[in-house]
Amino acid sequence: MGRLILEYLEGNRIYVCKKCRIHLTNFQNRISKNFKGGTGQAYLFEQGINYHVGLPVDKDLLTGKHTVQDLMCNGCCEIIGWKYIKAFRDSEKYKEGKIIIEKYFIEKIKWK
Ligand SMILES: [Zn+2]
Repeated sequence: MGRLILEYLEGNRIYVCKKCRIHLTNFQNRISKNFKGGTGQAYLFEQGINYHVGLPVDKDLLTGKHTVQDLMCNGCCEIIGWKYIKAFRDSEKYKEGKIIIEKYFIEKIKWK
C-alpha cells in the first residue's frame, strides 16, 4: 500500500472511528439506521472516506444473497462494516455501491 492520505469531511456532524478517531462519513451520507451487523445496530451510508475493502464474497443475509466486501478503517485496520457490491433480489438493488458501518465502531462528533 502507498502512503496513507487522510481526508476530512465537510459538515458539522461527522462519524469517526471510535478506536482511532479518523473521519469515516457524515450525517448527510446516512440513509438508514435500520440495519443489523455482527455487533448490533448498523447504519447504511451513501459513501464514506478513509477506508479500504477486502475481496468480494457472496453472503446469504437476512434479505437474500449479496456480494459484499469487508470495510476496513484506514487508521486502525479494524473491520467496521461492509460494502454492498451486488444484490441478487431486485428489492435490494438500492444498496449496491453503498456501505454499512456498525454503530459499535463509530461515534458521532461535532466538527468545527
Ligand atoms: Zn480506525
